Amino acid sequence: MTVISDIRKDGSVTSAFDIDRIRADFPILSQTVYDKPFVYLDSAASAQKPRQVIDAITRTYETEYANVHRGVHFMSQKATDTMEAAREKVRAFINAADPREVIFVRGATEGINLVASSWGRQNLTAGDEIIVSEMEHHSNIVPWQMIGEQTGAVLKVVPVDDSGMLMMDEYKKLISARTKMVAITHVSNALGTVTPIKDIIRIAHENGVPVLVDGCQAAPHMALDMQALDADFYVFSGHKIYGPSGIGVLYGKAELLEAMPPYQGGGEMIDTVTFEKTTYADLPFKYEAGTPHIAGAIALGAAVDYINAIGFDAIVAYEHDLLDYATEQLGAINSIRLIGTAPQKAGIISFLLGDVHPHDVGTILDREGIAVRTGHHCAQPIMDRFDVAATVRASFGLYNSREDVDALVAAMGRVQGIFGQ
Ligand code: PLP
Repeated sequence: MTVISDIRKDGSVTSAFDIDRIRADFPILSQTVYDKPFVYLDSAASAQKPRQVIDAITRTYETEYANVHRGVHFMSQKATDTMEAAREKVRAFINAADPREVIFVRGATEGINLVASSWGRQNLTAGDEIIVSEMEHHSNIVPWQMIGEQTGAVLKVVPVDDSGMLMMDEYKKLISARTKMVAITHVSNALGTVTPIKDIIRIAHENGVPVLVDGCQAAPHMALDMQALDADFYVFSGHKIYGPSGIGVLYGKAELLEAMPPYQGGGEMIDTVTFEKTTYADLPFKYEAGTPHIAGAIALGAAVDYINAIGFDAIVAYEHDLLDYATEQLGAINSIRLIGTAPQKAGIISFLLGDVHPHDVGTILDREGIAVRTGHHCAQPIMDRFDVAATVRASFGLYNSREDVDALVAAMGRVQGIFGQ
């Protein structure tokens, strides 16, 4: 896989991919669907996997599989070493200070539940407030409501403006002595808005409040730096960064993770057990009860290698260009209404076609071989904010091309014709 420098017709130089070679890494993309080329525009739900990740899964089971961390035998040691090497790759990927701060979880959902439950039980009482935003995924709302039901803590919600931008003045007004946690997304999965997360964190910290960042939609699209960001907790899912499903990452500052009680009890997370008392293992194992997703963690390491080999400089430039192109092309269809037009966006376009139900649009696009997502995108409150029940969402990965956008735009023209919009 190579990154090439591309000189545009107007003479400007852009860093671009060799998109054909990148697409060739993803076997599923060469399939046809209903005898049409498969156009995958649903990467925000889950990204496709490159051969390198698929091979890592096969290689693990074929050559280095055994249970990890507690075996004295060769194969267990080998699996342990490879899995821990993957943890180190993830540490470097997010520039965490220490691999002990990288907890392997099932995904972002489990990461947020872990923090809400474990940190929340220890730190929240009646009257405390947790600040979330109006554009959170349900997985960054419901776990906080659940711990709120147990502790009496309540949610406070930062509104977004008509473009889908977070209203920072309102955020500042919401922070008070009652605020105990800020839990906000880095990139909205429904709108594509990139939030000013660094400012959000800085303001929270000025008020002595820790921050959990839902990085699910940021991790595929931009370089992450935990130390520069100074996030207290950061979660993302492997399957959205071209890795397997069932594996994800909770980053937490060591001092916070050390102070919190374990989330689940069982094997791996203990130091000693008697019927009278159990002492817990050190980080990260304290939060990794039971046999982990060994092959998943190793393949997540392969996904990180894959992204690194291309580099975020090239990915960001390429995807930015693609998003601009898609926004322009779709926006030119007069009956399309874009939902989410913030100046800073990543990888996602949500839209409506006249008064056609998004599911109808999605179904017709499907017959054209084009996979988009339709619905509320597990973010009902932001749908309510825009007074819509659902949208059509096209989302992009590093393997999407302008041809994919052209196919979507042409198909939308046909949908328009069918519904007379
Ligand atoms: N947060 C955001 C912003 C998401 O987009 C998603 C998935 O769509 C999640 C959280 C939940 O991720 P997972 O289902 O992988 O746990």
